[in-house]
Amino acid sequence: MATYKVLLLPGDGIGPEIMAEAKKILDWMNETGIARFEMEEGLVGGAAYDAHGVAISEEDMDKALKADAVLFGAVGGPQWDDVPYEVRPEAGLLRLRKDLELFANLRPAICYPALADASSLKREVVEGLDILIVRELTGGVYFGEPKEIVTLESGEKRAVDTQLYHEHEVERIARVAFDLARARNNRVHSADKKNVMKTGVLWDDVVRRVHETDYADVELHHILADNCAMQLVRWPKQFDVIVTDNLFGDILSDVAAMLTGSLGMLPSASLGPADAEGRRRAMYEPVHGSAPDIAGQGKANPIAMIASLGMMLRYSFGMGDWADKVDQAIANTLARGVATADIAWDGARVVSTAEMGDMILAELKALAG
Ligand code: NAD
Repeated sequence: MATYKVLLLPGDGIGPEIMAEAKKILDWMNETGIARFEMEEGLVGGAAYDAHGVAISEEDMDKALKADAVLFGAVGGPQWDDVPYEVRPEAGLLRLRKDLELFANLRPAICYPALADASSLKREVVEGLDILIVRELTGGVYFGEPKEIVTLESGEKRAVDTQLYHEHEVERIARVAFDLARARNNRVHSADKKNVMKTGVLWDDVVRRVHETDYADVELHHILADNCAMQLVRWPKQFDVIVTDNLFGDILSDVAAMLTGSLGMLPSASLGPADAEGRRRAMYEPVHGSAPDIAGQGKANPIAMIASLGMMLRYSFGMGDWADKVDQAIANTLARGVATADIAWDGARVVSTAEMGDMILAELKALAG
């Protein structure tokens, strides 16, 4: 059996509380011989700043580079609001994304039946929803140069951001999206603004070329990003995989996120380029932050963290069957009428972070047979 090296970076606030619940599942998988995870732990964010004066130490960065996957909690909190900009908690996250070259951000939006009423949309629109947004994460307008505010001779200020994409950046994210679609419902929508942006024209050309040459079996649709936003709230179940650039992905993934009800439910994966054996550097993390308002109270919802672990099993370790079981264990737990406070519906029994983690693990054990 292969041994997988996993680096756990719990971070700040509720990070360590939710990570403890994910770790229970990894420990159980180790004990039962389902897999062999070699786990190391490190500090990131405010915790790393307090210990080392930086947002992540070189030693922990080295561990991240050597790991098969990184499981990340959350960083930040008011106690670090005034630390120098370069060592603020988020700098640890950005450094990890940059040094691991995590160019593909995957955000699933799954609506569990028990939570369909938590969405702002009607139950029939969201119940059973399962879509995946694939966002380009390292290029586009967030990084393009020039990026500046200049004062003109007239004294007026002018701000510039540059939307910039190379063919290879579009090609590699398109390939990730098509590969993922093949393992799902085989449908990709590529969203851009080719009607008004040159980067959109190039984006569409490259996606079509990659499709024609290597992925003709996958259903491909082009959609303008603004229409995509509308369709996401009109009838989201028409989508399977949506691939889009950094800026549109930022917005569309937040829209999709809210279809499912709560921040505490949303996992994510960020993948890097494949090596010669097809293995990718990868980091898995909940979408939410460190929730300082509820930290240390046992109120945090561990589901986004546990679902992130599920994504790790699926995308880094080829354990799709176990990832399915983790998702099913979450669904079964909710179907029993238990919830953490953030997702509690009328009549639900409100449980703590640890109780929720224990119940999901118990469901997983039952599914394992
Ligand atoms: P947040 O996501 O931490 O919290 C927003 C709201 O959602 C809060 O009311 C919080 O209690 C609730 N919430 C979030 N996750 C929850 C969970 N698992 N269970 C129950 N409730 C949950 O966002 P914020 O309040 O804007 O930011 C707090 C800190 O987190 C800031 O320092 C911010 O910079 C940082 N942050 C970090 C990340 C990250 O580490 N990836 C992402 C976003 C924000």
